[in-house]
Amino acid sequence: MSIAVAVIGAGFAGIGAAIKLKQKGIDDFVVFERGDRVGGTWRDNTYPGAACDIPSHLYSYSFAPNPEWSHTYSGSAEILDYIDEMVASFGVAEHIRFRREVVGLSYDEASGEWTVRFAGRRRAVKARSVIMAAGPLANPSFPDLRGIDDFDGCKIHSARWDHDYDFTGKKVAVVGTGASAVQIVPHLVRSAASVKVFQRTPGWVLPRVDVETGEFAKGVYRVVPGAQRLARAAWYWGHESIALGVVWDTPLTRVVETVSRLNLRLQVRDPWLRRQLTPDFSAGCKRLLMTSDYYPALQADNCKLVTWPIARIAPKGIRTVEGVEHQADVIVFATGFDVGKQGTPFPVTGVGGRVLADEWAGGAYAYRSVNVAGYPNLHITFGPNSGPGHNSALVYMEAQIDYITDAVTMIEKNDWKALDVREEVQSAYNRDIQKRLGATTWNSGCQSWYLTEDGFNATMFPGFATQYTKQLARVDLQDYRILVHASEPRDASEPAMSG
Ligand code: NAP
Repeated sequence: MSIAVAVIGAGFAGIGAAIKLKQKGIDDFVVFERGDRVGGTWRDNTYPGAACDIPSHLYSYSFAPNPEWSHTYSGSAEILDYIDEMVASFGVAEHIRFRREVVGLSYDEASGEWTVRFAGRRRAVKARSVIMAAGPLANPSFPDLRGIDDFDGCKIHSARWDHDYDFTGKKVAVVGTGASAVQIVPHLVRSAASVKVFQRTPGWVLPRVDVETGEFAKGVYRVVPGAQRLARAAWYWGHESIALGVVWDTPLTRVVETVSRLNLRLQVRDPWLRRQLTPDFSAGCKRLLMTSDYYPALQADNCKLVTWPIARIAPKGIRTVEGVEHQADVIVFATGFDVGKQGTPFPVTGVGGRVLADEWAGGAYAYRSVNVAGYPNLHITFGPNSGPGHNSALVYMEAQIDYITDAVTMIEKNDWKALDVREEVQSAYNRDIQKRLGATTWNSGCQSWYLTEDGFNATMFPGFATQYTKQLARVDLQDYRILVHASEPRDASEPAMSG
């Protein structure tokens, strides 16, 4: 089987790319999805309380506004419905193949095609272009804790929730206090006999005011789409302004911290607990936690915050370093994801047998986060240095899929063999990105999933969303080498080659 475009992953990015390809007149594409339904992270993260902490008007594609959002911040089920609805209304369902786990990609210079290999299938697929839309938050990470395999009870990861497990009357331990944990804990305290929350590092918490959208407002959004665009724009610029205090350490960072401290003081009466919950790093260095019900849940009679470091997991619970063993029937690991620890989710072999994971061993890099020199026609969504710290991931994603599908359209319409970013352009781009990252809060001393163990930041984009989307507004062909069939590489600046 030989196709024009293989899209890997049917989450937000893969579905968005499929829609854009179709809109740009490319019909010869297939979306390969390892699961048995679309939705990516929203299919996987179904823990109680799972919701997005970015307002729904902004956490959606601008080309697919949804007037029916029920709340300011929608839950995972509603977001999943939104993705399903896009698949149906934009007619991309027929392009999706489920239970196709990609296990390798390799580029053949002679034909200019990628070979896509799948788990458990002998037949590979050839594709001229590949869009890697597998996402960085796809594989759950269990902590490297001694004795973790010896635990007699149930172990549940936030991203693989066990809906058959009944928490009623159970002794629950929760490891982790990040964005997932603060949504889970308030739900667990309602049914469990006891909940012990094991915190390694407290985060900065801001209140999240979630209100139900009335029928009148929905009616207005249905009839006057401009009203919803206005609401989206208001949220967008509100979030952009927060960048000034979150992306860089500025006087506004102190304002964010003051609001967070005030929130802590208002919600937590006990000074000792307040002290345990007060971070010692700049707001923004780790992801801000948006929740109004986490602190109240921590103070419920059946809940306890444990701040002693974990020494080991024992058969009957969690032992902390001061020698106490906390008994538990179940341990919930809200410990995040394996973010690029192997560099790539599967082996990717490019020009001359180069292997992407080897090249990324010291930290991943790309050009404008989407292309890597030596891997022609390979396009990545949420690639290196495309992470937002302050704005909606979907704003970034929409810019990526527009850029990528523009490039793919050029390749297809011009029948180019390959489009490969110039190595020197990529190097200059990354020198600039790393220099700019040096001035951001993420690189200011705390440890987070944004950084490798060596402190290299291959995750975040050091600027406003507006700057990120501007750099992806058009494909600058002079930054790429264009290869045509049965010919030597030509320079993109040659008039005959321009797209
Ligand atoms: P995370 O932010 O990586 O948090 C993992 C938590 O586990 C941290 O509190 C971490 O402590 C703790 N942890 C890890 N290993 C540990 C160990 N060995 N011992 C004790 N504690 C340990 O993971 P997440 O909460 O799942 O969130 C990941 C990302 O998913 C977020 O940053 C966000 O991008 C996305 N997300 C988004 C939403 C949303 O509403 N939009 C909701 C959930 C998640 P340390 O802080 O000390 O490392």
